[in-house]
Amino acid sequence: MQHTVAVRVGLLAFLAAAFACSTIRPRPVITPQQPGWFKGNTHTHTTESDGDSSPDDVVKWYRTHGYNFLVLSDHNVLTDVTALNARGGRDPGFLLIPGEEVTDRFEGRPIHVNGLDVQSVVTPQGGSSAIEVLQRNVDAIRGVSGVPHINHPNFGWAVTADEIGQVRNTRLFEIFNGHPRVNNVGGGGVPSLEDAWDAILSSDVLLYGIAVDDAHTFKDPGNPDVAGPGRGWVVVRSPSLETRAILGALEAGDFYASTGVELADYRTTPTSMTVTVNKTTFSKYRVQFIGKGGEILREAVDSPAEYTFRGDEGYVRARVLESNGRMAWCQPVWVKR
Ligand SMILES: [Zn+2]
Ligand SMILES: [Zn+2]
Repeated sequence: MQHTVAVRVGLLAFLAAAFACSTIRPRPVITPQQPGWFKGNTHTHTTESDGDSSPDDVVKWYRTHGYNFLVLSDHNVLTDVTALNARGGRDPGFLLIPGEEVTDRFEGRPIHVNGLDVQSVVTPQGGSSAIEVLQRNVDAIRGVSGVPHINHPNFGWAVTADEIGQVRNTRLFEIFNGHPRVNNVGGGGVPSLEDAWDAILSSDVLLYGIAVDDAHTFKDPGNPDVAGPGRGWVVVRSPSLETRAILGALEAGDFYASTGVELADYRTTPTSMTVTVNKTTFSKYRVQFIGKGGEILREAVDSPAEYTFRGDEGYVRARVLESNGRMAWCQPVWVKR
């Protein structure tokens, strides 16, 4: 799968419109067979690697905090979730997906790639450059039917936007990670992950941005200096709460990422993108529509917030800024003549 797919706005908008028929209802009361919006976290650790809580306890935290799905992603360990899912079977609104954080390095730089729903454990593949390490691990994850996502590029200042943009066969990377040492907003001359995203998109490579917890610590709630849960997540529009449906929607960009903003609606038509925030009484919001080079094309404070395509933007994506610092990120669509 090449990234430089010359999808024109007409086709993409048609597909997006087909996806965009329903109103967003995060955390719905659902059965697994119903279409809807499903909140989940794709990056979490347990005592199977360096987390402080058992898989049972970790699953319990997410199940009791409004999540619909969770991926356990321990370092170079694939935890069998069959028994855990059976116990969770009492809750049809929750799905546990197996996974692994393939934990590799290149010249001391930590290079980590998550494999969602891998069918067997993936050994770190190594390589002669950061790009090759990323590519070999992505390909190994695909080789066991997993869905890859590139993790925390600024952790250890390990991976640049240019390097990420050269990796093929992957669609997802973390633009927000809840671990306190991963440098999401950049610094010292290194771009933020959001700036990196715009650089990648501006080079005609389509990647979707996800937010994750990377939670390790469940026994020290409220401590911002540990990697606690509940900091970043995705809300996915899916025909059902089933593993392949959820992962397919993620790879199609049919989701938004969030650190606390909930959307009431999010849709794209052949001519426009519209974002409707599910407002809380204590907050105010700005919706920014962003195009090539990270240019802010329009900032709206009304709701729903709408942007009409000119046709030459290259891509358009939206982000929502909440007055206490929480955010949501909608996924980009190509807008090209
Ligand atoms: Zn990691
Ligand atoms: Zn991790």
